Amino acid sequence: MESYRIAVLPGDGIGIEVMHAAAAVLETVQRRIGRILQLQWLPAGAQHYLDSGVALPDATLRHCEQADAILFGAMGLPHVHGADGTEIIPQIDLRMHLDLYAGVRPIRTFEGLPTPLARPEAAHIDLVLVRENTEGLFYARGRGDVRGDDEVRDTMRITRQGTARICEFAFRLAERRAARSGRRGRVTNVDKANVFASMAFFRKVFEEVAARHPQIAADSGYVDAMALNLVMKPWTYDVLVTENMFGDILSDLIAALVGGMGMAPSGDIGDRYGLFQPAHGTAPDIAGQGKANPTAMLLSAAMMLEWLAGRSGDAALADGAAMIQHAVEQVFASGQVRPMEFGGTDGTAAIAQAVAGALRPAHA
Ligand code: ATP
Repeated sequence: MESYRIAVLPGDGIGIEVMHAAAAVLETVQRRIGRILQLQWLPAGAQHYLDSGVALPDATLRHCEQADAILFGAMGLPHVHGADGTEIIPQIDLRMHLDLYAGVRPIRTFEGLPTPLARPEAAHIDLVLVRENTEGLFYARGRGDVRGDDEVRDTMRITRQGTARICEFAFRLAERRAARSGRRGRVTNVDKANVFASMAFFRKVFEEVAARHPQIAADSGYVDAMALNLVMKPWTYDVLVTENMFGDILSDLIAALVGGMGMAPSGDIGDRYGLFQPAHGTAPDIAGQGKANPTAMLLSAAMMLEWLAGRSGDAALADGAAMIQHAVEQVFASGQVRPMEFGGTDGTAAIAQAVAGALRPAHA
């Protein structure tokens, strides 16, 4: 039987809780699709840093390099800081080390769950934010130019290679979504080209890449206007592509559009490795209480299976991904469960159990 090695990094806080939910669902999925998903649990995170002095052990990193895919919970605790005062967040080190340049954040509404927006069109939000993960303003991380106690400079770095590959990624994603939906795809570039030379350069490279994909509509917006548009008319967007810091901020904004962080999955994808994690953090305010909504983690596991299917050519994995997505749709649409995040009474275990119980072959 085909077998796949999955490096599992649960991390801290609710990362651990939602990872147990994902493991329970994947356990059922593997039986249904006749594949072995070997989950290898590995230490890393802020608590591990407190315990051992190392946030991301070399051995964990080696296992990630050798695995077929990486499943990641959440890492970081508010009271745990490195020497420069920033939080311990090894996920950024992993992105850099494994060159996971595309942060893919899909957002969609689910029937049966309310959206914070009142307009009826809000029931049909379905967009993907593609965040550049390896440069932009995050390039400054660990390189802050501290000039005494009077001034600090952080530098935004935009390269042709980094921009071209993330824009290519966004256009190819739009092509796949268009093939699936039958509609013309669209990629919207989000920048601040009216103020920064780096952002004008990002837009120039975006337009060069867009010219190679004439079948996909392409346009650009300034990040401030896009913050407005993403609240006013998010249902009009398809794929968005943007610099690292803007992507960091906008991914929380778009998660809010569909009801909260617990609904926002993500993939950090490079040419060689793929890491899949919920877009949320460790949520110390609800950790340890069983209240976390595991949906984002479950949908991230589905994204992982879909990505693995594309790489391996193993269609059973794509069936597994579709199975999780349909089960999630079904448990919400039927009203079987409602996450506490939406004012319901169902916690992590109840939602995981309901989704595992609703897993059916995609064609059934
Ligand atoms: P980070 O900086 O690590 O992304 P953060 O401080 O921005 O983390 P989160 O940990 O994502 O924040 O939490 C933001 C808010 O969303 C918190 O109030 C948290 O309780 C809530 N939240 C996050 N994830 C979930 C979830 N899976 N289920 C329910 N509530 C969640």
